Amino acid sequence: MRIVTTVEEMLAAAEADAYSYAWDSLLEEVRHVGIHDDERALLIERLPAITARFAPADRDNVLLLAGHLAADVDEAAWPRHAEALTALRSLAGDWLASPADAGLFIHRLQAAVALEGDELWGAELHRIDENEIELECPHCGTTLALVLGPPLRPAAPADLDGAGRRLHEASLEAGQPSVATALTYLFGRTTCTECDHRFRVSDQVFRY
Ligand SMILES: [Zn+2]
Repeated sequence: MRIVTTVEEMLAAAEADAYSYAWDSLLEEVRHVGIHDDERALLIERLPAITARFAPADRDNVLLLAGHLAADVDEAAWPRHAEALTALRSLAGDWLASPADAGLFIHRLQAAVALEGDELWGAELHRIDENEIELECPHCGTTLALVLGPPLRPAAPADLDGAGRRLHEASLEAGQPSVATALTYLFGRTTCTECDHRFRVSDQVFRY
């Protein structure tokens, strides 16, 4: 008796239904069990056509999975998947703009930037989904739990650049002003409560 369900079989079970439980199994496999490179390649190549069949608001399962896959594509393998990843990025546009609460939107935005090749925020943006972030002071190493709000000094939106600017603009475009505001704190500054060292919050977020 065959008891192993392959990634390909899970995808076959999932692809007809945007809300199939098989998507959860696939996500579990990708995130916690671990998959082979050829399985990752198979998923990335198949997902654009499957995504396109679902209405934008129904793409959470498939595109959150795509984001986790993209976050683990190493730079050398990126060109091999360029076409599929470009297609997925384009399919993520309407999805980002479809209604979502702030928590879900942060996960969507993380997936979208993973599809753009952002290795840090494509994997770690979800850490702000409770409007808090835990990190270490770069000077004394104390672990700080920061609330992304007025106790911090926010970055002025006009001063944001790079990833901060991209994430902030994408949040505003998607009609998620509370996430945009949280991002000004993430890319703003704080002072360590132990040693008074001042630093940029986002500089202390590293990929796990
Ligand atoms: Zn400190």
